Amino acid sequence: MPSTHSLRRTKIIATLGPATESEAMLGQLITAGVDVVRLNMAHAKHDWTRLIIRRIRTAAQKAGRDVAIMMDIKGPEIRTGELTEPLDLKVGEIFDFTVRPETEPKRSAEIRSVDVNYPDLVNDIKVGDTVLVDSGQIRLVVLGKDQAHIRCRVLTPGSLTSRRHINLPGVHINLPSFTAKDRADTIVGVEEGVDFIALSFVREASDIEKLRLFLKERNSHARIVAKIEDQSAINNLDEIIRATDVLMVARGDLGIEVPLQELPVIQRRAVRTCLAIGRPVIIATHMLESMITQPMPNRAEITDVANAVYEQADCVMLSGETTIGKYPLECVRILDTIARRIEAEQAIDIAEPAVFISERMKVFRAAVVLANEIPRSLIVVFTRHGTNASGLAAHRPPHAPILAITDCVETMRHLRIVRAVEPFLLTPFSNPEATIERAIASLLKLGRVRDGDKLIIVSDIQTKDRRIDSIQLREVFSASP
Ligand code: PGA
Ligand code: MN
Repeated sequence: MPSTHSLRRTKIIATLGPATESEAMLGQLITAGVDVVRLNMAHAKHDWTRLIIRRIRTAAQKAGRDVAIMMDIKGPEIRTGELTEPLDLKVGEIFDFTVRPETEPKRSAEIRSVDVNYPDLVNDIKVGDTVLVDSGQIRLVVLGKDQAHIRCRVLTPGSLTSRRHINLPGVHINLPSFTAKDRADTIVGVEEGVDFIALSFVREASDIEKLRLFLKERNSHARIVAKIEDQSAINNLDEIIRATDVLMVARGDLGIEVPLQELPVIQRRAVRTCLAIGRPVIIATHMLESMITQPMPNRAEITDVANAVYEQADCVMLSGETTIGKYPLECVRILDTIARRIEAEQAIDIAEPAVFISERMKVFRAAVVLANEIPRSLIVVFTRHGTNASGLAAHRPPHAPILAITDCVETMRHLRIVRAVEPFLLTPFSNPEATIERAIASLLKLGRVRDGDKLIIVSDIQTKDRRIDSIQLREVFSASP
């Protein structure tokens, strides 16, 4: 098989949990092609987080493939408290959410209740509002409230377990975008050198700026992933996409917070806006949900994954499938198989690459046009901070892989999230020609390029007083370096 075919262009993110946290399983996931490992801080204790981050790095080292780590912080998320045993909520039952510790003995022994982690919920919520618990499975309506309780009637029954997420469609929550828990979690992430911080329930661009400042003050180079999950994010979508490093279409919560028929419309619009400005975008949640318990995906899931690849998103993400699912490895393999098939299909009809405004982007476009016209070509880019590699990826070359050579380990990991980019770490030489020759020699040794391959090399050449953007076309000869 030609070497250009060994790259899957769409990247895979897998969330870690009990099903996947062992070092052996991590090694298998990384070998199967996971590009980014995600830690969901709603469920993670700090000791576990530190331990697991080190374990991921070790497993990656053993597997010979450095993956990126994404810490997902929960933002202004409302959750129910601990329950010693599940509560079976029945239709019509009156049920209380307790927002403050009971100051007086419970008023009515018959009314069951659960704590909520946000005391001011009583101020944000109104009589008649809908409360959705656990991915919208249990539905209640607010009948009344006082300082300590929100009294509801159950509309859709269900079994309530501990720490379930609460959605309040259309209700503006006055919780800060970056909570005290988020700060504490992020500090652990910074100390352990995570590559991405995903901020949940981003409502406006300033939420991202706050996190950016926090990271800068701590000298962290972690990139920010803005998770859009409610109506305010959709109202401010364009400014959020401009402000963030990466966007995540977090369909789990989004699909509850907006009318369901809006979900595919929003997904398509978000992906298109990201593509238009070259911002990496992740499609998340329920991609292979049925595989939590079944070894095969259902047919709608196959098509949903394919759709994300057709839309040219950068990444697809697994959550429950890999945290608690029975078939985590199979899920990764199935994403891999679907993505490769759809990508092969997309490479048949080569679309004109998009046109961007900056001159730099026009140079990248020229490189991609060249790659599209030369069979068996590979793009090789030298990139310090990843900008050149992402700039090329923004043009979505349909068949040439983007082999990104960097001397910065953080950049190498950041590029794991970018479609069609395969990053390599290499120490630079002072002389650009020596650097290029050395890179080709390494790629040959790795078996990543072969004799006769055509390389489109994109690099900056630094002359005495200026930087020159260059595109070179070279054929690989193993005899001469
Ligand atoms: P979560 O975010 O898994 O942290 O809830 C993703 C989503 O809501 O889709
Ligand atoms: Mn969510």
